[in-house]
Amino acid sequence: VARKRFGQNFLHDERVIAQIVASFAPIPGQSVVEIGPGLAALTKVLLPAVERLQVIELDRDLAARLPNTLAGLGELIIHEGDALKFDFTRIASSETPIRVIGNLPYNISTPLIFHLLSHSELIVDMTFMLQKEVIDRLCAGPGDSAYGRLSVMTQYRCLPEWLFDVPPEAFNPPPKVMSAIIRLTPHAALPHPCRDEKLLGEVVGTAFTMRRKTLRNALGKYPLNALESAGVNLGARPETLSVADYVAITHALLDEPT
Ligand code: SAM
Repeated sequence: VARKRFGQNFLHDERVIAQIVASFAPIPGQSVVEIGPGLAALTKVLLPAVERLQVIELDRDLAARLPNTLAGLGELIIHEGDALKFDFTRIASSETPIRVIGNLPYNISTPLIFHLLSHSELIVDMTFMLQKEVIDRLCAGPGDSAYGRLSVMTQYRCLPEWLFDVPPEAFNPPPKVMSAIIRLTPHAALPHPCRDEKLLGEVVGTAFTMRRKTLRNALGKYPLNALESAGVNLGARPETLSVADYVAITHALLDEPT
């Protein structure tokens, strides 16, 4: 029986499973981590392809069943626990980065992506099943209606690529929403490095809480002379600015003479 609080919707459509693994294109010997293997629908196709796989599963009962289900398919390392609290430096470094894959529990998808993004130097790429609505936000560009804090902060670190949609019928029980597969590839070098990423997050968060206002009003709590020196149009709406614009604003605030 699926546990709702763990966001459990199990994949059963073999064609979709094959399509996910094919787009992940695993190569034996790569260091791969699957988040939330559940009943191992994806895992039993993935494990033979990579030969050695680490998995993180919160549900103790499901974690306990994995060795049996997957016996003989490859070397399996099970981390029973919460992926949100998992210390990825335990299993990866910038010399031996990991590839991450998972049909994520939708109730934790945004915090989990932020947790992983904070370790992006340890990650080659991430392939996730998510609510389509979240994937639209991750991929949106300036001017798109789905463009917001999640888009800017994700694209600061990664290239997002929508791969394909997955209908509710592919799962058991079927979720209420449409799903899709996304690949997030951390930039080898940040295209617009920011000297203070915490302040960047704050500026972006502040701007998008008032997306209908002009930037001048939405960022009214910051000194106007600093905002004016950023070289962006303060009469524009927050949802029209690029990642580079938000980095420029953050740097202007840092450089403001006090
Ligand atoms: N991968 C399986 C599939 O495709 O059928 C299961 C997907 S199901 C949507 C999400 C899985 O993540 C469940 O097995 C659930 O128990 C597990 N899970 C939920 N919260 C988790 C967390 N915080 N950390 C790790 N796993 C979690």
